[in-house]
Amino acid sequence: MQFVRVIDTISEFSHVLDLARRDGRTIGFVPTMGYLHDGHLSLMRRSRNECDLSAVSIFVNPLQFAPEEDLASYPRDLPRDLQACEAVGVDVVFAPPVEEMYPEPTLTTVSVAELSERMEGAARPTHFAGVATVVAKLFNITGPCRAYFGEKDYQQLVVIRRMVKDLNQPVEVVGCPIVREPDGLAMSSRNVYLSDEERGAAIVIYRALQVGAAAIFAGERDATAVARLMADIIAAEPLAALDYAEVVDADDLRPITSLEPGSRVRLLAAAKVGAPRLLDNLGVEVPA
Ligand code: AMP
Repeated sequence: MQFVRVIDTISEFSHVLDLARRDGRTIGFVPTMGYLHDGHLSLMRRSRNECDLSAVSIFVNPLQFAPEEDLASYPRDLPRDLQACEAVGVDVVFAPPVEEMYPEPTLTTVSVAELSERMEGAARPTHFAGVATVVAKLFNITGPCRAYFGEKDYQQLVVIRRMVKDLNQPVEVVGCPIVREPDGLAMSSRNVYLSDEERGAAIVIYRALQVGAAAIFAGERDATAVARLMADIIAAEPLAALDYAEVVDADDLRPITSLEPGSRVRLLAAAKVGAPRLLDNLGVEVPA
C-alpha cells in the first residue's frame, strides 16, 4: 500500500505546493538523485520535523554529468526509494522524466563563479553549472520553501547558498550533518560501486581528515602542512588515487595558509577508489 503521493509533472507538483502554502502550510524540500540511503533520509526527517509538508525530488540530472561520467550507470531504484520516503513520512515525491525537466536543450544555465572553480569544479568543470541550473529550476517549480542539503557535498552547499543569495530566491537553505557508516565512511549512493577490498580502502579518506583535524587540535597552524599530511595518508593507500586534500575557509571556500585561532575551516578531500570518486569533509574550529 502506497501513501506517499508520487508526481511526475511540473504543473501538478507546483500546484500541490501552491495549495499547501495557500493553506498556510510551510514546505520542506529535499532535492536528491535517488538511490536513497540514511544520509538522504536524515534530510527528510529534519524536513518532517521542521515543516508542515515535506517534498522530495528524485531526478538524476544529466546536466551535471560530463560525457565520460557515470550518468547511464548511476544507481537507480525508484520503488525502493518510494518505500523509504514513505517510511520517513514524506508527503510528496516529485520524480519527473528527463523530458519533463528538459523538453528541449537548455540555453540558459546558472553558474556561480569562483566558488565553483576549485576542488570539485577543477575535477569536473561543468558539474556545478549543471547542479546550480537544476536546483534553480527545482526552486522555481517548488516555490518558497526551506531546502535541505547535506554537508557531504560541502562545496555544493556553499555554491547553492550563494546562488540563493545572489538571485534572491525565496528559499531558506538548511545544511545538514554528514551521515556515516559505522566505520566512518560517508554514506554515498556511489558506495555500491566499491568491491569489498575497495570498501575497506575507502575509509582512508575519513581517516586522513581526522588526522588533519587532530593535527590542528595539537597546535599545527600551518594549513599547507595539514593539507600535505592528509594528502600523504591518502596517497599511501594503494587502492586510492588522490584528487585533492585542502584546508579552506568554511564560509567562502577561500584557500588558507595560516590557521587563525577561532576561525572556522573545512578540511576537504576527494579520491578515486576503484571506479567511483569519493568525497568527504570535516569542519574544524581552530582553537583560540
Ligand atoms: P544526491 O542524491 O547525491 O544528489 O544527494 C542529495 C542530497 O543528499 C544532497 O544534499 C547531499 O549532500 C545529501 N547527502 C548525500 N549523502 C549524504 C550523507 N552521507 N549525509 C548527509 N547528507 C547526504
